[in-house]
Amino acid sequence: MPKPTPTSAGDYTAIFAARLDALKTEGRYRVFADIERLAGQFPRALYRPAPDAAPVDVTVWCSNDYLGQGQDASVMAAMQDIIARTGTGAGGTRNISGNSHELVELERDLAAWHEKEAALTFTSGFVANEAALSVLAKQLPDCIVFSDAANHASMIAGIRNSRAEYHVFRHNDVAHLRELLAAAPADRPKLVAFESVYSMDGDIAPIAAICDAAADFGALTYLDEVHAVGLYGPTGAGIAEREGLSHRLDVIQGTLGKAFGLMGGYIAGSNLLVDFVRSFAPGFIFTTALPPVIAAGARASLKSLIAATELRRRHQANAARLKELMAEAGLPVLASESHIVPLMVGNAEACREAAKRLLERHKIYVQPINFPTVPRGTERLRFTPTPYHDEALMQALVTALREVWRELFLPLAA
Ligand SMILES: *Cc1c(COP(=O)(O)O)cnc(C)c1O
Repeated sequence: MPKPTPTSAGDYTAIFAARLDALKTEGRYRVFADIERLAGQFPRALYRPAPDAAPVDVTVWCSNDYLGQGQDASVMAAMQDIIARTGTGAGGTRNISGNSHELVELERDLAAWHEKEAALTFTSGFVANEAALSVLAKQLPDCIVFSDAANHASMIAGIRNSRAEYHVFRHNDVAHLRELLAAAPADRPKLVAFESVYSMDGDIAPIAAICDAAADFGALTYLDEVHAVGLYGPTGAGIAEREGLSHRLDVIQGTLGKAFGLMGGYIAGSNLLVDFVRSFAPGFIFTTALPPVIAAGARASLKSLIAATELRRRHQANAARLKELMAEAGLPVLASESHIVPLMVGNAEACREAAKRLLERHKIYVQPINFPTVPRGTERLRFTPTPYHDEALMQALVTALREVWRELFLPLAA
């Protein structure tokens, strides 16, 4: 391989190498597994230890395709059908190439699902958060943002990029939020940004109490339901739907990349608010729209998710069962109130080593979660059992975990 040539300004490769080495020393260099998903056999997949190595059969335990929608027959058929009719790409930004009809329909479906007037799609959930939050916080004159301490990187990026004043309230701590709101000038616009299901601890926000606080101080509410859409509520529209609170949120944000099994993101809200974001967000205007094939897939996935009551029941039952099995085995599982099953390790190096052994010796794929995704000292393995992880798979997982915990002298539950 040719070596990059240093420019006249100096040799940058040394800087890149030093920074990467530092990450490795700290044990937080990220390695991505080479995984080939197999439609019809979820959660089985093929893993290749090296690009040319023979593939190994593994069970995936950390997918955010929570209900296996990525292989749903109706979604796959809808996508094949629309490719045959409309081809592949969107043809450009919506500004230049117009709205593909499928996307117009998808936005209408998403708005109705969340009991909102309008919805707007983006190329990912990250882009939706970054674009919408930065526009709202920047374009509302003198806006102050109140952000939960555990908010996702995409929300933090949007808030920071707005350059608006912001305050971080302690995670799910409504009293602290109220204190901060009360300390802010009454006449300035305010925005409270938070999530429903937090994806690392699997805990759930006190949405009603946060909406009460926001209402008392005249603040807009922005809820990221990325880990809840498709999974909670009678039609799967999320925790806000489950708790009958959709009408109290100014913005509900979601992804098409997790329970929908595709990719893309969106916000739902009033006509005016959505038009405001559409009109002022560079991250919406200056980028190619989602292709019709994704929109058609998302519409089919939404239709199937709305009816997926039985899948949702099995999803929750399997998550509860796995937590029970882990607790019985003395493993330090967090008693989350959602479908997310965090197993605490508390050390970056040990966390990566545990994941490596699970994959190489037990054919179990779970990604280690290290800083900065979670605070240092709370490194963990994060399991996301789906309706397709049956009792036998769960038993095999717990047996393998016991073995790895013993070999690495990892702490058991107190
Ligand atoms: C994954 C995630 C996002 C980003 O969604 P993508 O569609 O994957 O870009 C936003 N918020 C939270 C809480 C997430 O976990």
